[in-house]
Amino acid sequence: MGQYVYRIAAKVNDEIIVKEGQLENRVKSAMHNAVVHRLCNTSSIPYPMAWWKRNDAFILAEYIGLFTGKVLHVNRNSAFNFADHEVPNFEVKPSIVRGLLGRLIPSEMDAHDIDSFGYWHFGERDCEKISLLGSMLPIPSEVRLEDHDEKQEVLFLLDAQDVFDSCPECNSEIIFGGVVFGTEHARLFPAICCNSMIWSPNEKELNPKWA
Ligand SMILES: [Zn+2]
Repeated sequence: MGQYVYRIAAKVNDEIIVKEGQLENRVKSAMHNAVVHRLCNTSSIPYPMAWWKRNDAFILAEYIGLFTGKVLHVNRNSAFNFADHEVPNFEVKPSIVRGLLGRLIPSEMDAHDIDSFGYWHFGERDCEKISLLGSMLPIPSEVRLEDHDEKQEVLFLLDAQDVFDSCPECNSEIIFGGVVFGTEHARLFPAICCNSMIWSPNEKELNPKWA
């Protein structure tokens, strides 16, 4: 019995990961952790401690599955054979990893992917979305005074038609359902008309365009 181990393989970008051990569940969770570590490194975000305790961990677990092959029960002395594990070949998309882990970077978002309830959709399925309201966003330096925080929480959501007469970028009419996010010192308008993420300071004197 001690001769046999559970062995699992995964591939994240070009890196192959192998884990083995006596207990199948431990081998699997060690692999899930290793994959999350690689996904975070590849996407330049810090590893989220205890990610498996999150309410939405199941979505992340499904994503991990896209990089992970079969668990095999093998003799511990047998040579590792990558092909036997049938590891899928899936490319990491950093914006999806950041979406799954709630690390939002507006400059990487498409205005089209933000709905009128303030959710950013980073995948095809309805569960693959994250609310910008309540999230911490990095604020671009152009719209930030020196004593303002680099990251600010999104505190409120406004109807874009109540804020603008026309798009500050392309001058188009504001489309129904458009939203404006507000933090303590800045505002963000995902403009569907010209697919741009338009930042502005809350302080009007910093940006006369913002009426
Ligand atoms: Zn526009």
